[in-house]
Amino acid sequence: DLADIGVTGLATMGRNLARNLARHGYAVAVHNRSASRTHALVREFGGEGTFVPSEEAADFVASLKRPRRAIIMVKAGAGTDAVIDQLAALMEPGDMIVDGGNAHFEDTRRREAALRERGIHFVGAGISGGEEGALLGPSIMPGGSAESWEALGPILQDIAAKVDGVPCAVHVGPDGAGHFVKMVHNGIEYSDMQLIAESYDLLRQALGATPADLAEVFRGWNRGELDSYLIEITAEVLDQVDAATGRPFVDVVVDRAEQKGTGRWTVQSALELGVPVTGIAEAVFARALSGHPEQRAAARSLAGPSLSGVGAEELVEDVRQALYASKIVAYAQGFDQMAAASREYGWDLDLGAMATIWRGGCIIRAKFLDRIRAAYDADPNLPTLLVDPTFAAALGVAQESWRRVVTTAVRIGVPTPGFSSALAYYDGLRRDRLPAALVQGLRDYFGAHTYLRVDREGAFHTDWPGDRAERPA
Ligand code: NDP
Repeated sequence: DLADIGVTGLATMGRNLARNLARHGYAVAVHNRSASRTHALVREFGGEGTFVPSEEAADFVASLKRPRRAIIMVKAGAGTDAVIDQLAALMEPGDMIVDGGNAHFEDTRRREAALRERGIHFVGAGISGGEEGALLGPSIMPGGSAESWEALGPILQDIAAKVDGVPCAVHVGPDGAGHFVKMVHNGIEYSDMQLIAESYDLLRQALGATPADLAEVFRGWNRGELDSYLIEITAEVLDQVDAATGRPFVDVVVDRAEQKGTGRWTVQSALELGVPVTGIAEAVFARALSGHPEQRAAARSLAGPSLSGVGAEELVEDVRQALYASKIVAYAQGFDQMAAASREYGWDLDLGAMATIWRGGCIIRAKFLDRIRAAYDADPNLPTLLVDPTFAAALGVAQESWRRVVTTAVRIGVPTPGFSSALAYYDGLRRDRLPAALVQGLRDYFGAHTYLRVDREGAFHTDWPGDRAERPA
């Protein structure tokens, strides 16, 4: 019998996705470059449903019902191109290839265009939730044609996470839209983690609190408006005690944060689009700073402030407020980036729907996303999430605390780039007049770049080296 859908690439993610499909009653064709993984899957989990294993790609493709639906879950990059070429050569017009790996959205755009010429639907699908999500219900962000969504949507919604009965899978938009949204999701994840790390660091340094004390603090925060998966697991990690030494686990881990690149991609794209995603950028740069041990060792001798006592109770609540406010800013920036990309690439993204599919399955899942969805439901054309009445009110409540936190951090020498840059962004947007006017003046002075006036139409230039008279440009 022919399979309903296939998965090629059976490492952690592909194997669990195939099992998830089989558990939902689909007959799943399975294939992997090295056949041992295919056999292991059928041997260990064959009882969970119907698997149709193949050692050769040709047999894999031949084992699929028409129009064929094949999901690729291989290491992103050159491997993906190789597997796409292999499958496409064996497929027919109308068939569908889904790339569930973490591809760059520009690669997805290129691949989609090339396969479209051959009549094959290429679906770049962001899949979030890691190993467990793939098995029990991920958040799925597929791009591609409307026809491909018709054929794939019901299956993807079936295996996705559900929140209040609503599946965390929606057709994001054409070509690279799905992988773009997954990229921004990961960027926001960077920012969330950076803000959590700053909260922990500041409270630990300022109050001399232990990781176990702080686990309690985070656990408490998780019962309020910060309720989220990442806050929840922060408490777990802070509570962990190293078996070998008896020390807190966080104290035996090397303080150098790794990155696979999706945060960097998000910032690179934001630079191209001209969208200030300072929260994500600071998170990427903070990881980069942590990765320079030679500079850090040398800089340890630089002068810093003497640590002095800070009031405990107020600081904990202030940090909670700063974390929440900075998180609102980071999400507002990420959603701005998606809106800008939607305009640039003609994707027609539904921002409220993006918040909806991130409510479950994925790493940034949080109650908070319901508030974002509500904000876009109330006004799909919000100029920035910050001015949604709910968020504006929260920022109003938080801002004094936020300022005290940044001031305290600066005073005692604890770096909080996430809090500080988010506050600078908030204050920047709030400003009636920005010093960008002076920047324009300087640009006109040295480069005759011209400027606009507040009171008249048209561009102007002042003859700086000459008579300093202004003329229309
Ligand atoms: P890996 O990224 O470790 O990739 C291993 C798989 O890729 C193996 O099946 C391997 O086959 C196959 N592969 C590598 N190169 C080639 C090639 N040239 N031709 C054919 N097959 C190749 O696996 P993961 O399961 O961790 O991730 C799969 C994808 O999902 C990646 O793109 C990843 O970025 C993405 N992803 C991962 C998440 C995670 O939490 N791990 C979360 C969300 C997305 P072989 O066994 O023969 O070596």
